[in-house]
Amino acid sequence: MSKDYYKILGVTEFDSSDEIKIAYRKLARKFHPDIAGDSKEAVLRFKEINEAYEILSNQVKKSEYDRARKFYNYAYNNNNNSKKTDNYTSSPQANTKSFSFNWDEFWGKKTNNQDIKKNVKAPKDGVNVTTDVEINAFEAFSGVTKVINMLQTNICPKCQGKKFVNNSTCVHCNGKGELNSYKKFTVKIPAGVKNGAKIRLAGEGTKGINGGKNGDLYIIIHVQESKNYRTEGLNIYRTIPITPFEAVLGTNVKISGLDGVLNVKIGANTQNGQKIRLANCGIVQNNKIGDMIITVEIKIPKNLTEEELLLYKKLAEISTCNIRNEI
Ligand SMILES: [Zn+2]
Repeated sequence: MSKDYYKILGVTEFDSSDEIKIAYRKLARKFHPDIAGDSKEAVLRFKEINEAYEILSNQVKKSEYDRARKFYNYAYNNNNNSKKTDNYTSSPQANTKSFSFNWDEFWGKKTNNQDIKKNVKAPKDGVNVTTDVEINAFEAFSGVTKVINMLQTNICPKCQGKKFVNNSTCVHCNGKGELNSYKKFTVKIPAGVKNGAKIRLAGEGTKGINGGKNGDLYIIIHVQESKNYRTEGLNIYRTIPITPFEAVLGTNVKISGLDGVLNVKIGANTQNGQKIRLANCGIVQNNKIGDMIITVEIKIPKNLTEEELLLYKKLAEISTCNIRNEI
Protein backbone atom coordinates (compact mmCIF):
# COMPACT_ATOMS: atom_id res chain seq x y z
CA MET A 1 0.00 0.00 0.00
CA SER A 2 1.38 3.37 -0.97
CA LYS A 3 1.46 6.10 1.61
CA ASP A 4 0.86 9.80 1.20
CA TYR A 5 3.15 11.38 3.77
CA TYR A 6 1.63 14.82 3.17
CA LYS A 7 -1.81 13.50 4.03
CA ILE A 8 -0.45 11.75 7.10
CA LEU A 9 0.90 15.05 8.42
CA GLY A 10 -2.06 17.08 7.13
CA VAL A 11 0.15 19.37 5.04
CA THR A 12 0.69 20.05 1.35
CA GLU A 13 3.85 19.92 -0.74
CA PHE A 14 3.78 23.71 -0.88
CA ASP A 15 4.04 24.13 2.88
CA SER A 16 7.37 25.31 4.30
CA SER A 17 9.65 23.09 6.37
CA ASP A 18 8.61 25.09 9.44
CA GLU A 19 4.93 24.41 8.78
CA ILE A 20 5.68 20.71 8.29
CA LYS A 21 7.62 20.71 11.57
CA ILE A 22 4.72 22.37 13.46
CA ALA A 23 2.20 19.90 11.98
CA TYR A 24 4.46 16.98 12.89
CA ARG A 25 5.00 18.13 16.49
CA LYS A 26 1.27 18.60 17.02
CA LEU A 27 0.49 15.10 15.76
CA ALA A 28 3.47 13.51 17.48
CA ARG A 29 2.29 14.92 20.81
CA LYS A 30 -1.29 13.80 20.17
CA PHE A 31 -0.35 10.24 19.24
CA HIS A 32 2.58 9.76 21.59
CA PRO A 33 2.14 6.43 23.41
CA ASP A 34 2.29 8.28 26.73
CA ILE A 35 -0.83 10.21 25.76
CA ALA A 36 -2.65 8.11 23.15
CA GLY A 37 -1.88 4.80 24.88
CA ASP A 38 -0.37 1.75 23.27
CA SER A 39 -3.31 0.45 21.25
CA LYS A 40 -2.34 -1.05 17.91
CA GLU A 41 -3.94 1.81 15.97
CA ALA A 42 -2.27 4.53 18.03
CA VAL A 43 1.17 2.91 17.78
CA LEU A 44 0.75 2.47 14.03
CA ARG A 45 -0.33 6.08 13.63
CA PHE A 46 2.62 7.31 15.73
CA LYS A 47 4.97 5.22 13.59
CA GLU A 48 3.43 6.56 10.41
CA ILE A 49 3.73 10.19 11.57
CA ASN A 50 7.42 9.69 12.37
CA GLU A 51 8.03 7.93 9.09
CA ALA A 52 6.37 10.78 7.20
CA TYR A 53 8.39 13.40 9.05
CA GLU A 54 11.63 11.54 8.49
CA ILE A 55 11.09 11.86 4.74
CA LEU A 56 9.51 15.31 4.56
CA SER A 57 12.05 16.95 6.88
CA ASN A 58 15.00 15.80 4.79
CA GLN A 59 15.42 17.85 1.61
CA VAL A 60 17.05 15.06 -0.41
CA LYS A 61 14.55 12.42 0.64
CA LYS A 62 11.69 14.89 0.22
CA SER A 63 12.63 15.75 -3.38
CA GLU A 64 12.97 12.05 -4.24
CA TYR A 65 9.63 11.41 -2.65
CA ASP A 66 7.99 14.38 -4.45
CA ARG A 67 9.21 13.09 -7.78
CA ALA A 68 7.90 9.61 -7.07
CA ARG A 69 4.59 11.03 -5.93
CA LYS A 70 4.33 13.19 -9.02
CA PHE A 71 4.89 10.23 -11.33
CA TYR A 72 2.48 8.09 -9.37
CA ASN A 73 -0.17 10.79 -9.56
CA TYR A 74 0.44 11.41 -13.23
CA ALA A 75 0.12 7.77 -14.17
CA TYR A 76 -2.88 7.27 -11.93
CA ASN A 77 -4.78 10.16 -13.48
CA ASN A 78 -3.71 9.34 -16.99
CA ASN A 79 -4.90 5.81 -16.77
CA ASN A 80 -8.14 6.40 -14.98
CA ASN A 81 -9.28 9.71 -16.45
CA SER A 82 -10.11 10.42 -12.88
CA LYS A 83 -10.14 13.76 -11.14
CA LYS A 84 -9.48 12.17 -7.79
CA THR A 85 -5.97 13.59 -7.56
CA ASP A 86 -5.67 12.85 -3.85
CA ASN A 87 -6.56 9.22 -4.05
CA TYR A 88 -3.03 7.89 -3.78
CA THR A 89 -3.86 5.16 -1.38
CA SER A 90 -5.95 3.01 -3.68
CA SER A 91 -4.44 -0.38 -4.35
CA PRO A 92 -1.98 -0.62 -7.26
CA GLN A 93 -4.15 -3.31 -8.92
CA ALA A 94 -6.99 -0.82 -9.19
CA ASN A 95 -4.85 1.63 -11.07
CA THR A 96 -3.36 0.19 -14.19
CA LYS A 97 -1.71 -2.86 -15.54
CA SER A 98 1.17 -0.95 -17.00
CA PHE A 99 1.98 1.16 -13.96
CA SER A 100 3.07 -0.63 -10.87
CA PHE A 101 4.92 1.88 -8.79
CA ASN A 102 4.98 1.12 -5.10
CA TRP A 103 6.33 3.55 -2.56
CA ASP A 104 7.06 0.83 -0.06
CA GLU A 105 9.26 -0.83 -2.64
CA PHE A 106 10.76 2.51 -3.52
CA TRP A 107 11.69 3.39 0.04
CA GLY A 108 12.01 0.00 1.58
CA LYS A 109 10.21 -0.86 4.78
CA LYS A 110 12.78 1.04 6.83
CA THR A 111 14.05 4.26 5.41
CA ASN A 112 17.65 4.12 6.49
CA ASN A 113 20.30 5.29 4.05
CA GLN A 114 21.36 1.79 3.12
CA ASP A 115 17.86 0.93 2.00
CA ILE A 116 17.38 4.18 0.11
CA LYS A 117 20.59 3.57 -1.76
CA LYS A 118 19.55 0.04 -2.60
CA ASN A 119 16.01 0.92 -3.62
CA VAL A 120 16.90 3.93 -5.75
CA LYS A 121 18.75 1.43 -7.92
CA ALA A 122 15.66 -0.80 -8.13
CA PRO A 123 14.08 -0.87 -11.60
CA LYS A 124 11.36 1.71 -12.11
CA ASP A 125 8.95 1.54 -15.00
CA GLY A 126 8.29 4.60 -17.14
CA VAL A 127 4.76 5.95 -17.37
CA ASN A 128 2.31 5.98 -20.26
CA VAL A 129 1.87 9.23 -22.15
CA THR A 130 -1.07 10.29 -24.30
CA THR A 131 -1.22 12.82 -27.11
CA ASP A 132 -3.97 14.01 -29.45
CA VAL A 133 -3.92 14.09 -33.23
CA GLU A 134 -6.53 15.81 -35.35
CA ILE A 135 -7.31 14.51 -38.81
CA ASN A 136 -10.03 15.53 -41.22
CA ALA A 137 -12.88 13.29 -42.31
CA PHE A 138 -11.20 12.60 -45.60
CA GLU A 139 -7.98 11.42 -43.94
CA ALA A 140 -10.10 9.22 -41.68
CA PHE A 141 -11.72 7.57 -44.70
CA SER A 142 -8.58 6.93 -46.63
CA GLY A 143 -5.98 6.56 -43.87
CA VAL A 144 -3.05 8.92 -43.48
CA THR A 145 0.49 9.06 -42.19
CA LYS A 146 1.16 11.83 -39.66
CA VAL A 147 4.40 13.05 -38.12
CA ILE A 148 4.04 13.96 -34.47
CA ASN A 149 6.60 16.05 -32.63
CA MET A 150 6.36 15.10 -28.98
CA LEU A 151 7.91 16.89 -26.05
CA GLN A 152 9.17 14.15 -23.79
CA THR A 153 10.21 14.40 -20.19
CA ASN A 154 12.56 11.72 -19.01
CA ILE A 155 14.51 11.15 -15.85
CA CYS A 156 18.06 12.40 -16.24
CA PRO A 157 20.25 9.37 -17.03
CA LYS A 158 23.29 10.97 -15.41
CA CYS A 159 21.89 11.59 -11.92
CA GLN A 160 18.96 9.16 -12.25
CA GLY A 161 16.61 11.98 -11.25
CA LYS A 162 18.46 12.70 -8.02
CA LYS A 163 19.55 16.17 -9.23
CA PHE A 164 23.00 15.69 -7.66
CA VAL A 165 26.10 13.79 -8.69
CA ASN A 166 28.84 13.38 -6.07
CA ASN A 167 27.23 16.04 -3.89
CA SER A 168 27.25 18.69 -6.60
CA THR A 169 24.41 19.76 -8.90
CA CYS A 170 24.07 17.52 -11.93
CA VAL A 171 25.34 19.48 -14.94
CA HIS A 172 23.59 17.20 -17.42
CA CYS A 173 20.10 18.32 -16.30
CA ASN A 174 21.12 21.50 -14.42
CA GLY A 175 19.82 19.98 -11.23
CA LYS A 176 16.29 19.43 -12.52
CA GLY A 177 16.47 15.65 -12.38
CA GLU A 178 14.54 15.55 -15.67
CA LEU A 179 15.34 16.29 -19.28
CA ASN A 180 12.97 17.62 -21.94
CA SER A 181 13.49 16.74 -25.55
CA TYR A 182 11.46 16.60 -28.75
CA LYS A 183 11.07 13.35 -30.59
CA LYS A 184 9.42 12.83 -33.96
CA PHE A 185 7.09 9.90 -34.50
CA THR A 186 5.69 8.78 -37.81
CA VAL A 187 2.26 7.31 -37.20
CA LYS A 188 0.31 5.35 -39.77
CA ILE A 189 -3.38 5.98 -39.17
CA PRO A 190 -5.44 3.23 -40.81
CA ALA A 191 -8.30 3.85 -43.24
CA GLY A 192 -11.74 3.95 -41.65
CA VAL A 193 -10.39 5.10 -38.28
CA LYS A 194 -13.12 6.25 -35.88
CA ASN A 195 -13.16 9.37 -33.74
CA GLY A 196 -11.58 8.65 -30.35
CA ALA A 197 -9.58 5.64 -31.57
CA LYS A 198 -6.30 4.99 -29.77
CA ILE A 199 -3.04 3.99 -31.39
CA ARG A 200 -0.42 2.55 -29.06
CA LEU A 201 3.28 2.97 -29.68
CA ALA A 202 4.83 0.46 -27.31
CA GLY A 203 7.77 1.68 -25.28
CA GLU A 204 7.52 5.30 -26.45
CA GLY A 205 6.24 6.72 -23.15
CA THR A 206 8.67 7.90 -20.50
CA LYS A 207 11.75 5.73 -20.12
CA GLY A 208 12.06 3.21 -17.33
CA ILE A 209 15.21 3.48 -15.24
CA ASN A 210 17.54 0.84 -13.85
CA GLY A 211 16.15 -1.66 -16.33
CA GLY A 212 12.49 -0.78 -15.68
CA LYS A 213 10.04 -1.05 -18.57
CA ASN A 214 9.40 2.00 -20.74
CA GLY A 215 5.88 3.43 -20.71
CA ASP A 216 3.78 3.45 -23.88
CA LEU A 217 2.67 6.37 -26.02
CA TYR A 218 -1.04 6.49 -26.82
CA ILE A 219 -2.19 8.60 -29.74
CA ILE A 220 -5.84 9.62 -29.55
CA ILE A 221 -7.38 10.29 -32.95
CA HIS A 222 -9.82 13.18 -33.26
CA VAL A 223 -11.73 13.22 -36.53
CA GLN A 224 -12.80 16.77 -37.36
CA GLU A 225 -16.44 17.25 -38.15
CA SER A 226 -16.89 18.13 -41.78
CA LYS A 227 -19.75 19.96 -43.42
CA ASN A 228 -18.80 18.40 -46.72
CA TYR A 229 -18.94 14.77 -45.69
CA ARG A 230 -21.12 12.49 -43.67
CA THR A 231 -20.71 8.74 -43.41
CA GLU A 232 -23.14 5.97 -42.78
CA GLY A 233 -21.59 2.54 -42.68
CA LEU A 234 -19.29 2.37 -45.67
CA ASN A 235 -21.18 5.04 -47.63
CA ILE A 236 -19.99 8.62 -47.91
CA TYR A 237 -22.57 11.36 -48.35
CA ARG A 238 -21.68 14.75 -49.72
CA THR A 239 -23.33 17.75 -51.34
CA ILE A 240 -22.26 19.39 -54.58
CA PRO A 241 -23.43 22.96 -55.28
CA ILE A 242 -24.24 23.84 -58.91
CA THR A 243 -25.48 27.04 -60.57
CA PRO A 244 -28.99 27.36 -62.10
CA PHE A 245 -27.59 27.22 -65.64
CA GLU A 246 -25.51 24.12 -64.80
CA ALA A 247 -28.73 22.55 -63.50
CA VAL A 248 -30.45 23.33 -66.80
CA LEU A 249 -27.67 22.47 -69.20
CA GLY A 250 -25.85 19.79 -67.22
CA THR A 251 -22.13 19.81 -66.40
CA ASN A 252 -19.16 17.79 -65.22
CA VAL A 253 -17.86 18.46 -61.70
CA LYS A 254 -14.49 17.28 -60.42
CA ILE A 255 -14.34 16.34 -56.74
CA SER A 256 -11.70 14.66 -54.64
CA GLY A 257 -12.35 11.00 -53.93
CA LEU A 258 -10.50 8.52 -51.76
CA ASP A 259 -8.28 7.37 -54.61
CA GLY A 260 -7.92 10.66 -56.45
CA VAL A 261 -10.16 12.94 -58.48
CA LEU A 262 -13.69 11.83 -59.33
CA ASN A 263 -15.56 13.13 -62.35
CA VAL A 264 -19.24 13.58 -61.53
CA LYS A 265 -21.58 13.98 -64.47
CA ILE A 266 -24.54 16.21 -63.71
CA GLY A 267 -27.27 15.61 -66.29
CA ALA A 268 -29.36 18.31 -68.02
CA ASN A 269 -32.50 19.39 -66.12
CA THR A 270 -31.15 18.33 -62.75
CA GLN A 271 -33.44 19.32 -59.88
CA ASN A 272 -32.36 20.72 -56.53
CA GLY A 273 -31.82 17.85 -54.05
CA GLN A 274 -31.40 15.24 -56.76
CA LYS A 275 -29.13 12.38 -55.76
CA ILE A 276 -26.32 10.76 -57.73
CA ARG A 277 -24.82 7.45 -56.58
CA LEU A 278 -21.18 6.77 -57.42
CA ALA A 279 -20.86 3.04 -56.95
CA ASN A 280 -17.73 1.71 -55.17
CA CYS A 281 -16.43 5.18 -54.30
CA GLY A 282 -17.05 4.85 -50.57
CA ILE A 283 -15.01 3.52 -47.68
CA VAL A 284 -13.06 0.30 -48.09
CA GLN A 285 -13.10 -2.03 -45.12
CA ASN A 286 -12.66 -5.79 -44.77
CA ASN A 287 -12.87 -6.38 -48.51
CA LYS A 288 -16.12 -4.44 -48.75
CA ILE A 289 -16.55 -1.11 -50.45
CA GLY A 290 -19.28 1.50 -50.03
CA ASP A 291 -20.71 4.08 -52.41
CA MET A 292 -20.51 7.83 -52.55
CA ILE A 293 -23.93 9.46 -52.61
CA ILE A 294 -24.05 12.99 -53.89
CA THR A 295 -26.86 15.45 -53.31
CA VAL A 296 -27.02 18.24 -55.85
CA GLU A 297 -27.81 21.67 -54.45
CA ILE A 298 -28.67 24.51 -56.82
CA LYS A 299 -27.13 27.73 -55.57
CA ILE A 300 -27.72 31.24 -56.87
CA PRO A 301 -24.37 32.94 -57.43
CA LYS A 302 -23.84 36.23 -55.63
CA ASN A 303 -22.36 39.39 -57.17
CA LEU A 304 -23.50 38.76 -60.74
CA THR A 305 -21.98 41.01 -63.37
CA GLU A 306 -24.17 43.43 -65.27
CA GLU A 307 -23.85 41.29 -68.36
CA GLU A 308 -25.03 38.21 -66.47
CA LEU A 309 -27.95 40.15 -64.97
CA LEU A 310 -28.93 41.34 -68.48
CA LEU A 311 -29.02 37.75 -69.65
CA TYR A 312 -31.23 36.80 -66.70
CA LYS A 313 -33.55 39.72 -67.56
CA LYS A 314 -33.64 38.58 -71.16
CA LEU A 315 -34.41 35.03 -69.94
CA ALA A 316 -37.24 36.37 -67.76
CA GLU A 317 -38.72 38.17 -70.78
CA ILE A 318 -38.61 35.24 -73.12
CA SER A 319 -39.37 32.42 -70.66
CA THR A 320 -42.48 30.47 -71.50
CA CYS A 321 -42.49 28.02 -68.62
CA ASN A 322 -44.82 28.25 -65.70
CA ILE A 323 -43.50 26.29 -62.73
CA ARG A 324 -46.25 27.57 -60.46
CA ASN A 325 -49.25 26.33 -62.44
CA GLU A 326 -49.98 23.74 -59.79
CA ILE A 327 -50.12 26.15 -56.83
ZN1 LIG B 1 20.80 15.05 -13.88
